[in-house]
Amino acid sequence: MKVVVIGCTHAGTAAVKTILADHPSAEVKVYERNDNISFLSCGIALYIAGQVKDPQGLFYSSPEELKKLGAQVHMRHDVLNVNVADKTILVKDLLSGEEFVENYDKLIVTTGSWPIIPDLDGLDLENVQLCKNYQHAKDIFSRQVGKKKVVIVGAGYIGIELVEAFRRQGSEVTLIDAQERILNKYLDKEITDILEAKLIEEGVQLKLNEKVKAFLGEKGKVSAVQTSKASYPADLVVLCIGFRPNTDLVKGQVETLANGAIIVDDYMQTSVKDVYAAGDSCAVNYNPNNGHAYIPLATNAVRMGFLVGKNIVGEKMKYRGTQATSGLYLYGYNIGATGVTEASAREYGLDVDSVYLEDNYRPEFMPSTEKVYMKLVYEKESKRIVGGQMMSKYDVTQSANTLSLAIQTHQTVEDLALVDFFFQPVYDRPFNYLNILAQAALAKEN
Ligand SMILES: Cc1cc2nc3c(=O)[nH]c(=O)nc-3n(C[C@H](O)[C@H](O)[C@H](O)COP(=O)(O)OP(=O)(O)OC[C@H]3O[C@@H](n4cnc5c(N)ncnc54)[C@H](O)[C@@H]3O)c2cc1C
Repeated sequence: MKVVVIGCTHAGTAAVKTILADHPSAEVKVYERNDNISFLSCGIALYIAGQVKDPQGLFYSSPEELKKLGAQVHMRHDVLNVNVADKTILVKDLLSGEEFVENYDKLIVTTGSWPIIPDLDGLDLENVQLCKNYQHAKDIFSRQVGKKKVVIVGAGYIGIELVEAFRRQGSEVTLIDAQERILNKYLDKEITDILEAKLIEEGVQLKLNEKVKAFLGEKGKVSAVQTSKASYPADLVVLCIGFRPNTDLVKGQVETLANGAIIVDDYMQTSVKDVYAAGDSCAVNYNPNNGHAYIPLATNAVRMGFLVGKNIVGEKMKYRGTQATSGLYLYGYNIGATGVTEASAREYGLDVDSVYLEDNYRPEFMPSTEKVYMKLVYEKESKRIVGGQMMSKYDVTQSANTLSLAIQTHQTVEDLALVDFFFQPVYDRPFNYLNILAQAALAKEN
């Protein structure tokens, strides 16, 4: 069996390792346009903040490791074309310039995603930066030196993490977003209100409801960002307004969502036999509404890549779907979220109700305690849990994982209200805060 893998970051690496573990005699050829594999982008903000000193620590695999496992790894090779009808790809060696055709028995498309780049004047100015891969990490890191005024465009989790990182380095930071709330895809207003107040208290210039119109420059370098309302001085701009799937190679050849995200079945097979896909190039099977969604996360990428490996010869292990569970640390707050928010539920065709609660995580007789801010989102009719948000200065993020499991296993509000969680006053009350949250939902319904 000859397997060709296009793209090797998280999904590609997981697929290659699993295939070689399960099918040691398979011929596995990897084509990757970069000179590195497995870079953890989540470490970029930590590197900029100075918490991670050596970016080499942000790789968990290498071309050498995959070669040792038996793969033929071709770095700095760009795949220019895919033909699923005759099972071939066209490859360019980026170092020699040579082009050649490669055939396959099984093809794995793990080409990931690329930042969305708006069509604006001034994009080509020096110090207007993207934030996705190792090269971007190095560019941002080298360019930040001596840059006092940093503008971050996009208040999703990537932009938000960069805000704190640059503030730690002493930069003046302006955060701009066209939406009216930060982190609006992950958290509802009760929680984002608290975080926005915190950002302002920390000296961040928060500019919401403002659309970037252009980047202004002097002598080829960015000097300001013009929005629908004002102009903000900038020595460095980082664009973080989202991602799009990198799937032009298979456009029109496999079934996709409107944005180009490849649709796969429960076994990672695309609509074309022997063509598999995983990670940011794909739509995910989203459990809250049992539909498809585009939610690019490393967690999905490694899981889907692993499943490509498991199912490359016959359907052996089923994808359980995702709730897009995520975690974030911001200025002392530990934040975890899973499933839909109250605000996003309608987009997914769900009719929901919700409950929001603030409570101390452990009894007041303890020497200290912290408030937990929490929200539960559930279907009106069935009372099935479809989303949850947890935030506290105490680390309650694992509770978002518990809620994730509740969504995946179709638990109701009543199930969560009565589920057996331990009690120990160091950690919680006789009813754990998740029980209390669900009980508040029951009380509201009654
Ligand atoms: C700053 C930042 C922070 C993040 N933090 C988190 C986090 O905390 N938690 C989390 O779960 N997720 C996080 N993510 C998301 C996560 O990084 C992505 O979901 C993940 O990288 C997807 O992996 P992938 O392998 O599917 O795709 P990608 O990482 O996009 O990799 C695709 C690979 O394919 C290669 N490729 C593409 N086209 C071709 C071609 N034609 N020929 C050859 N090679 C090609 C590319 O060079 C690339 O190496 C973060 C992302 C960013 C940018």
